[in-house]
Order: sequence, then structure tokens, then C-alpha cells
Amino acid sequence: MTDNIKNIPVAIAGGGPVGMMLALYLDQYGVPSVVFNTATEVRHHPKGSTHNSRTMEHHRQLGIAPRVRDLCLPINRRTDVSYYTSLTGWELSRIPMPSEAEKRRTVAASAATDQIPEPLLRANQMYVEAFLFEHAKTRPNITMRFGWSLKSFVEDDQGVTVEVEKADGSARENWRAQYLAGCDGGRSAVRRALALRYSGFASLDSPYYGGRQNATYFRAPTLYRDHLAHRAGWNYWIVNPKGRCTIISLNNDEEFLAFSKAPDDGAEPTDQDAARHIVQGVGADLPIKIIGHWPWTAGVALVADQFLTKRVVLAGDAAHLFTPTGGFGMNTGMDDASNLSWKLAALVQGWGGPNLFASYEIERRPIAQRNTIAARELGKQLANMPDITAIDEDTPEGEQTRRTVRGHLATMTEEYASIGVQLGARYDGSPIVASNGAAPPHDDYLNYTPSSVPGGRTPHYWIGAGRGYGDSLFDHLGQGFTLIRLGGKAADGAPIQAAAQARNVPLKVLDVPAADARDLYGCDLALVRPDQYVAWRGNAAPADPAKLIAKVTGY
Ligand SMILES: Cc1cc2nc3c(=O)[nH]c(=O)nc-3n(C[C@H](O)[C@H](O)[C@H](O)COP(=O)(O)OP(=O)(O)OC[C@H]3O[C@@H](n4cnc5c(N)ncnc54)[C@H](O)[C@@H]3O)c2cc1C
Repeated sequence: MTDNIKNIPVAIAGGGPVGMMLALYLDQYGVPSVVFNTATEVRHHPKGSTHNSRTMEHHRQLGIAPRVRDLCLPINRRTDVSYYTSLTGWELSRIPMPSEAEKRRTVAASAATDQIPEPLLRANQMYVEAFLFEHAKTRPNITMRFGWSLKSFVEDDQGVTVEVEKADGSARENWRAQYLAGCDGGRSAVRRALALRYSGFASLDSPYYGGRQNATYFRAPTLYRDHLAHRAGWNYWIVNPKGRCTIISLNNDEEFLAFSKAPDDGAEPTDQDAARHIVQGVGADLPIKIIGHWPWTAGVALVADQFLTKRVVLAGDAAHLFTPTGGFGMNTGMDDASNLSWKLAALVQGWGGPNLFASYEIERRPIAQRNTIAARELGKQLANMPDITAIDEDTPEGEQTRRTVRGHLATMTEEYASIGVQLGARYDGSPIVASNGAAPPHDDYLNYTPSSVPGGRTPHYWIGAGRGYGDSLFDHLGQGFTLIRLGGKAADGAPIQAAAQARNVPLKVLDVPAADARDLYGCDLALVRPDQYVAWRGNAAPADPAKLIAKVTGY
């Protein structure tokens, strides 16, 4: 260790989407952080393409949603998911889904009380991560240390001393942080150093969907032109006993991502194997150049037994590992970053109380369990595929198999209709939520019921006449807490304001006089946290506003 210690409020191990989102939120709250990431650049390999509505609200909160949206699949391309015996064989089923342009038109025509200001975006993580990387580099409070690995750390009551090493081993640095966030992925060095284990399901026992899979990034200049252009969509599943393969569109029509079965013996996937799966899925020979492989495991649902210690905290894949069905993995991590960032800011800035740090685990660990199980249940639907032995035979038996499989596929639309999972995560029972005894809405993966019952996402409302930036209630919430005064009554918020001021808690008062907004919330006052969750609601300030402010800030 060297004597030259660099000081920083928050050190982040891992510059994947979650580490970068955490740094960007901290930057917005005015908190400096350093991001260490082993690779010198973000990885250039496609992974998930689902940035769900809540993640897009995070991008909106950071002021970057329009630029992230522009990374979508071609804007007029429908994002259908379709199923085939092969691309030259039978089409089995199609789930129609709108293009980005159609989604934007739906938002433009939406009612004032509509709950989806930011529809789910189909854009590969690879493009969004590259954008976040470039954007983070421009932010004043973020020090980017890509090409540096966290090697070890020691925590004490006041903070964490972190040792990092340059990727080529040429230099070492020591940093002293008040908090260390482990956003360093599924093999998290931070989690392992703390001897924290994952619990849950390590795989799914299914011949059709389970075990090791391979994500292949490949170039095939004729694939779109010859086999996809007339039925262009986002995701093409091949259901065939000769080999399972899913082909996923990327931003140009020459490069694609394919998922196929990886060797069960743990061997690295080869270019030849991957190309064979793709050719089999297409059902015809075509020129293919493999760019890279990324093995992953289908069916996992793993959550760390503990998310934090005194000064060290886990977020994203370091805290929970998902099977990709539903596209919840990164999205759950982005929500972790939103929850964690304001708490770290409050603690660093001196207005957060002793219960605030621990509330992160209390609030987020149950959500990780809920979402990993939701993803696994969706994966099971896939795994329960009927017998497909005869599916590509031109015989009565083949026709019968296709009919049976079509019936099964028709039940699988839920994977793409999970707005309840996306927006409905709740923190009922959290020690920093002032519950008023009202029943929260039922947790329904497929539907989201807006509710101002404390502990849930604050209901969305279009304040402005338009549907653009500046028109959403979310665009007017403060960097700290926001006290929303709803309806024409303009209830007296002064006691809550004074209590916040007395504790140096940042609080903005926002008037939303519209009657339908008051109806949506069902209350005259709602106290909203920096992460857009309702902390308290009422029709008048509580008898002891100081006690309320203390509770919601972790005292
Ligand atoms: C095939 C597939 C499809 C998916 N589809 C979706 C989807 O559609 N939607 C979705 O939400 N999720 C999806 N996911 C999951 C998603 O990719 C992950 O959840 C997400 O990347 C996790 O982000 P993260 O930042 O937590 O971790 P990572 O993306 O793993 O980033 C961690 C970073 O930490 C770095 N690191 C590791 N160790 C150290 C160290 N010691 N020091 C410094 N840096 C270190 C790594 O190099 C890496 O850059 C999918 C995953 C797969 C495999």
C-alpha cells in the first residue's frame, strides 16, 4: 500500500450499467464518486435489450432519456417476438409489439393520469452502456477509473480503505471512501471478500430451457435481406428438436445476437458450434462471421443473503442474478442504484440518520427475491414446452405438434407484459416509510395500480398540456424530498417544510391543483422521496412533523 491516499465520498467497484447509474445519480445529488472497472472500456458485446419503463424513468430523472431512446432499434421497426420451426420453415406464433415510433405516438396521445410516461425501450445494453460511459466521463462529480481493478478493501466505523490496481499491473492506488458500493457483477469480488453467499436456484432442470447457454454476437450481411425483412421484428425464436436458437435484432441489419445451448460439459463455446446453431435456426446456409461469445446460465434466481455491512453495499448482479426471461436483471439493478444513491447522498451530506443505510437492504432485498422469482416463473413456462419431436415434419403428426405448440406459445405473452413487475415494486413495512394503515394495491406482475399508499412509486401525472419533457410531474420533483400539494384546497405544508428545514433536509413544495390529480392520489398532501417513492401522505400536516421527517430520513 502507498501512503498517497486519495479521498472520495463514494467508491464504486464495477462500471457496468448499475455502477454507472449509481455514479450518475450521485453526481446529480452533488456527491463525488470514483468508478473502478477492470476493462479499459465498456464491453462491446450485446446482452439484454430490455430497458423497462422504470429504468427509462431513471434515465428521465437524469435528463438523458431522449438520448437513450435514440439508441432504439430502427424507429419504425415493430418489436414483434415470433416463433418458427426454422426461418425457412413454419411460423408458429407471433406476439405483436409496437415500434418505438408507435410508442412515442401513444405517449403523445395519453390521458393526464396515464402511468407510462416512459414506455419500455428495446435497445441493446451494449449501445446504452457505451452512451452512459461517454456521458459519465463528462460529469463533474464522477472520476472514471476504467482499466483499474479493486484488489482489496478494509472497512471500519468511519469508512473503507480501498486498494486498486491498474489492469496491466503497472500501478496501484489507495483510496479512502465513506462508502464502497460493489457493483462488480455476478462474480463480485466485493461480495466474495465479505463472504456473502447467494441463495436460491442455480439453474433450471429442463432440456428446452435450462443450464448453460451461449450468447453469440455475429455478423450475417444477408440474414435480414433474405430471411427477416418481410417479417421484421425484434426477437425470432426457433423451436426445433435439432437445436434451440433465438436470433435477436441489433441496431443495424447486418449484426445480430443469437442464444443457443452451450456445451453441458462446461467447455467454451466454439465458433463452429455457434455457426451451426444459427444455420440450423435459419434453415439455410448463409455467410456468418462470429464476433464473440458470452456464456450464461438459464434458470438462475439467486439473491445475496445480505446486501450490506457497515460501510460496504452490493447492487445489481453482485446482489442478485436473474435468468433473462422478462428482462428484469439489469432493470432491478438500476432500481437498486436509484434507491441507494439518495441514501448515500443523505449520509454523506449529513441529513441521513442511522437507519438509512440499512433501509437499502430492507427495501431492496425483497424486491430482488420477488423479481428473480418472477423471471424464473416465466422461464418455467418456456421450459414446459410440449414434446416438439415432430415439429418440422410435413405430416399429420407434425401438424398436430405445431398446433399443440401454438397453443402453448399463446400462453406465453406474460413475458412481455410485466408492467406490474416494472412499476409495482413496493417497500411496505420499511422503517423509513410512514405507513398510514391503508392497504397497498395487490402485487400483480401483469398490472400496475397507481397508489399513493406510502411505500410505492409515486403515481404519474401529466402536469403540462403537452407530453414532452417538462410536462410530467416527474420532471418537477426536487432533488431531495418533494411535498406535493394536490387539488384546489392547497393544504398547509408549512409545518412539514419547517421540520425539513430544521434538519437540513432538502425539500421542494410542488402544487398540482388539477382535480383529477387529487383523485389519482386520493389525498391533499404527499411526501415523495428523492427516488420518487411516496414516504407519507395525508390531508393535513401530521401533529408531529419533526417526527415524520426524522422517520423518513432514517432517524
Ligand atoms: C443473455 C442475457 C440477456 C439479458 N437480458 C437482459 C434484459 O433484457 N434486461 C435486463 O434488465 N437484464 C438483462 N440481462 C442481465 C443484465 O445483462 C445484467 O443484469 C446487467 O449487466 C448487470 O449489470 P451490473 O452493472 O450489475 O453488472 P455487470 O454488467 O456485470 O458489470 C460489472 C462490471 O464490474 C467489472 N468488475 C468486475 N470485477 C471488478 C473488480 N474487481 N474491480 C473493478 N471492476 C470489476 C466488470 O468488468 C463489469 O464491467 C441479461 C443477461 C444476459 C446474460
